[in-house]
Amino acid sequence: MHMLHRWWTQPSDFAWTTAYHRTNPILQRAHIAVGIWCLLYSALCVLAAHTPAGIGEPSEYAAGYMLAGIAGIVGAAWIRGPWPSETVSKMFVVYLEASSAGALLMLSDPMVALPCAAALGVNGSYIAAFHSPKLFFGHQSWAIVISGILFTRAVTAPDADVVLASAYLVMLTLVLFSAPILTQSLLVLLRRDAATAFFDPLTGLRNRRGLAAALTETLPAGGSAAVVVIDIDNFKKVNDRYGHAQGDAVLRRTASAISGTFAAPAITARTGGEEFAVLTFVEPAAAFAFADTLRIALADGVGSDPAVTVSIGIAHTTANTLPASYDQVCRWADTAMYAAKRAGGNTIVTNTNPEGAFPC
Ligand code: GH3
Ligand code: MG
Ligand code: MG
Repeated sequence: MHMLHRWWTQPSDFAWTTAYHRTNPILQRAHIAVGIWCLLYSALCVLAAHTPAGIGEPSEYAAGYMLAGIAGIVGAAWIRGPWPSETVSKMFVVYLEASSAGALLMLSDPMVALPCAAALGVNGSYIAAFHSPKLFFGHQSWAIVISGILFTRAVTAPDADVVLASAYLVMLTLVLFSAPILTQSLLVLLRRDAATAFFDPLTGLRNRRGLAAALTETLPAGGSAAVVVIDIDNFKKVNDRYGHAQGDAVLRRTASAISGTFAAPAITARTGGEEFAVLTFVEPAAAFAFADTLRIALADGVGSDPAVTVSIGIAHTTANTLPASYDQVCRWADTAMYAAKRAGGNTIVTNTNPEGAFPC
């Protein structure tokens, strides 16, 4: 019961799923695969209009060709990309469900239409991969209604072969319900575990992998960007003096001070033991001001015992070039942070002339 509740309330996190697709070279092309499905579906509609077992009435040919035309346009849009927003993707689901049900109900031979309902499983695969369990449940209910109508038509037709229709129904149950439910539950759980792999369990900030993934997500376009590297000074002494558990509490407090100071769209991460990084999309002077606010707040130890100081290095670039130049800019920020450390800690150094001042 508990597992069922967890499955049912699992959010779809469409943004995370599509961002994950962008980080993977194979999945990056998944939109082309969806486009090809649509083109194949378009071809099916054309073929159905040209067989007596398909769209029977000449008056319905136009409807068949219209479905084929729309599927062709939708397929071309998918192939062209980019990946749609969650709302557009839900509209695509509604279109898929309506047009595939329409095509199935137009088929004149009920003994052909019934096994063809297996095609609804393709819609189910898309929904299982990208949307919530609730939408998937909606799809399954819709598939039951359509299969039910087709089965009733098959067994009430003149010369009905009830045994064959029942065999088709058993096959549909296997194809539409058993396998997709197993796959969808597995995907939901895998997605949840994979999402946690991008975050640091101690602080809740992104980890290195999560930071790399963030670079492939939609970053603010244009304008300035800065990489801010933050390292706690003499953190080893905190552990030695107060114990590891207290050290962990200091890391959590530092992390929440960082995410409180650098609000979204800034991206915050714990990149090592007592090292953090921030990608922020503000002018250099503002980046410095935020870093200074953080430095002072931590050194003052507002509500925290023991207080810690941090060494901060900042390097600037532009938002547009950040994904490509991230490694280099991060090295510049790191070099600046070490300069702050050498200056005695509790200091900010801005790497204003990376090539000259702090060669990597
Ligand atoms: P510096 O001022 O030069 O940065 O010195 P430091 O002591 O801060 O840095 P150092 O790299 O010498 O030590 C970092 C310490 O952080 C050592 C390690 O035990 C501790 N540490 C790393 N990860 C964790 C963690 O998850 N929890 C706790 N409590 N300590 C950690
Ligand atoms: Mg340190
Ligand atoms: Mg360190």
